[in-house]
Amino acid sequence: MSKILIIEDEESIADLEKDYLELSDFQVHIENSGNGGLEAALAEDFDLVILDLMLPGMDGFEVCRKIREKKDIPILMVSAKKDDIDKIRGLGLGADDYMTKPFSPSELVARVKAHMARYDRLVGSAQKRNDIVEIRGIKIDKTARRVWIDGEERTFTTKEFDLLTFLAENPNHVYTKEELFREIWDMDSIGDIATVTVHIKKIREKIEFDTSKPQYIETIWGVGYRFKV
Ligand code: CA
Repeated sequence: MSKILIIEDEESIADLEKDYLELSDFQVHIENSGNGGLEAALAEDFDLVILDLMLPGMDGFEVCRKIREKKDIPILMVSAKKDDIDKIRGLGLGADDYMTKPFSPSELVARVKAHMARYDRLVGSAQKRNDIVEIRGIKIDKTARRVWIDGEERTFTTKEFDLLTFLAENPNHVYTKEELFREIWDMDSIGDIATVTVHIKKIREKIEFDTSKPQYIETIWGVGYRFKV
């Protein structure tokens, strides 16, 4: 469920916004002051902030600027004065949208939804850029160099990771130990094809349920190894 932070000192307005947003299945938290709002915005993971301009203590301009220094979540600024909107724009605070009071709650909800969808697309596409290899229960994030087995993360050394990834990316292909050694270790490496055997053993201990009956990396006797699909 998406979480929204309302920073608003007028209780009746905050409650009205909250009611409408909750009807649209958002989870809502209210802060009544600029300082409290800023603190909450930085401490918790909200998906969007609705920020009133005139607040006791720190005003909305300052809160917006301070949130922007740390986070890029959508900020929707609200003010009772039309002139303020020009001021917000002029200051280039990084607010994503502006609304003047009074506004209809349904308009607020519509804008919130539009910004969340836009933000999800941006963040979502950033995540998709990670290069992921997924085979049966194994998930390899090549970008972050992390591996999960049945949803549980396991740690691999650099060469174990490279070897596992290479085999998983070339399934059903039998590689000799010599080929694997050439592929993963550079020519100057100290070691020989026995290194490959040792690494395969270590990888199996981390990915196989029963290392005597490997489900992923198969030994092809007299030839080498193959990643089964
Ligand atoms: Ca106010």
